[in-house]
Amino acid sequence: MLRTGADYLKSLNDGRQIVLGKEIVRDVTTHPAFRNTARSFARIYDMKRSPEHIDAMSYEENGERHSAWYILPKTKEDLRKRAEAHRRVAEWSYGLLGRSPDHVSTFVAGMRMMPEMFEEGRKGFGDNLIRYYEHMRDNDIFACYLVITAQGARDPEIYKRQATRNAALQVVDEDDKGVFLSGIKMLGTSAVFSDEAWIGNILPLAPEQKALSITCAVKMNAPGVQTWVRKSYELNAVSRADNYFSSQFDETDAVLVLERVHVPWERVFVMDNAQLSRDIYFKTPAHIMGNHQSMLRFAEKLKLINGIAHKAAELSGVGHLPAVQQTLGRLMAAEAGLLGMIAGQIESPETTPSGHLHVNRRFLYAALHWTSNNYCEIAEKVRELLSAGPFQIPADSSFFEDAELTRIYEANWGAIGAGASERYKFIKMAWDLLGSEFAGRHTQYERFYGGPPFLNDMYSYTWAPWTDRRALVDKVLADIELPKPKK
Ligand SMILES: Cc1cc2nc3c(=O)[nH]c(=O)nc-3n(C[C@H](O)[C@H](O)[C@H](O)COP(=O)(O)OP(=O)(O)OC[C@H]3O[C@@H](n4cnc5c(N)ncnc54)[C@H](O)[C@@H]3O)c2cc1C
Repeated sequence: MLRTGADYLKSLNDGRQIVLGKEIVRDVTTHPAFRNTARSFARIYDMKRSPEHIDAMSYEENGERHSAWYILPKTKEDLRKRAEAHRRVAEWSYGLLGRSPDHVSTFVAGMRMMPEMFEEGRKGFGDNLIRYYEHMRDNDIFACYLVITAQGARDPEIYKRQATRNAALQVVDEDDKGVFLSGIKMLGTSAVFSDEAWIGNILPLAPEQKALSITCAVKMNAPGVQTWVRKSYELNAVSRADNYFSSQFDETDAVLVLERVHVPWERVFVMDNAQLSRDIYFKTPAHIMGNHQSMLRFAEKLKLINGIAHKAAELSGVGHLPAVQQTLGRLMAAEAGLLGMIAGQIESPETTPSGHLHVNRRFLYAALHWTSNNYCEIAEKVRELLSAGPFQIPADSSFFEDAELTRIYEANWGAIGAGASERYKFIKMAWDLLGSEFAGRHTQYERFYGGPPFLNDMYSYTWAPWTDRRALVDKVLADIELPKPKK
């Protein structure tokens, strides 16, 4: 099923509790902190089923149409189709919605390629995973995920010694219908706009932290669920003209608080198994397929940033300088390098024992490593090109309502290659993306969304063909002859 944007918006008004400061928000579709971003997500649903995009964005199975991210790939063509669907979603939101509806669904599709792994944990959990995949696919479900344990609860020894403890989300009770969960989990990007939350653990748990290993799906409006959201940039945006991106693409981040939330058994996928609760991401294609979406999304954002860099140089009248062209050349080389790494992920795929194809693991982890390490520097370079521009532009666009102030502004603020009005729009838009508090959040997001940066190094260490590399060294060593002792 391909949901309409209107259906999606209707389903968001479902009694969920969003905690914004001291306010409990119940309808995110009308609240000024969320309503525009809710519409940006709704637009993805509408664009996806529009005549122009429906073929690229969906596929048919048993007479039903489903979003392309539910394809379980068996051919390179399947991988290409999935990639193009991710790319278009990212294009429609300039790569600013990291956890768009195609992200967590791709993780679940990745797990669906190897459901037998869930059976190892408990009989029936593999079937639960298959049914959950079908539920998401058939109802076009938008899920976020929270797979990080609260900081204070990570080390069991420190946890025991603490006077005040983080209540790490865990199973506190069970009955014949399911389990009861209490505690907090972080960090749900897009949680406010999702139908459901996938709860799990992407970082290792100690074997004795079995109760924390619960992996399940929770409805955002389930009794006992609260979504504690960070500051809303949409609420603080002055206008579309002043904050083009933060006024409509603030996907939000939130901590989920659960108090004796009942989760039915059919939505439980792992329980009482610390090791398995992490393995399901790495021993299936889930982590690499999900992050493949992130790479396509990043590339769309980078294309926009590079366009901004070029225009910034032009407006400052420095685009002809070789040193500036060198900076622009480096940015475009970086973009081309990333696009190459993405193509490599698709064109050099690998197979699962079940006969499914997934993207090339090493090329994916190289790209994840590169993007998480370089976004900060890219943003910095483009801010450098904007120089003092953002601080010469008037406070906000309200002065345009005054004819005399507009006359003065128009007469004096023009730049090379752009009139004063265009310069206003450009600088405000660029600063919103690269210099504002919203921009700061994006820098932190690109650094951390895939886990702490040191882990991104470790993925490339773990999956490296060290035996082959060592064989090369051995070959050279075998060819080196040391002098023999003279008799
Ligand atoms: C904007 C944003 C959005 C996010 N969205 C999501 C989401 O949708 N879902 C989700 O589940 N999570 C999400 N995350 C959480 C993200 O996965 C975590 O931030 C990440 O795993 C790091 O955990 P932490 O923030 O608790 O840092 P910590 O683990 O507390 O680390 C703190 C610092 O210490 C460093 N460090 C820690 N251990 C080591 C070590 N052994 N060696 C070297 N350095 C170390 C880290 O690199 C980091 O710099 C998001 C994070 C951000 C910032």
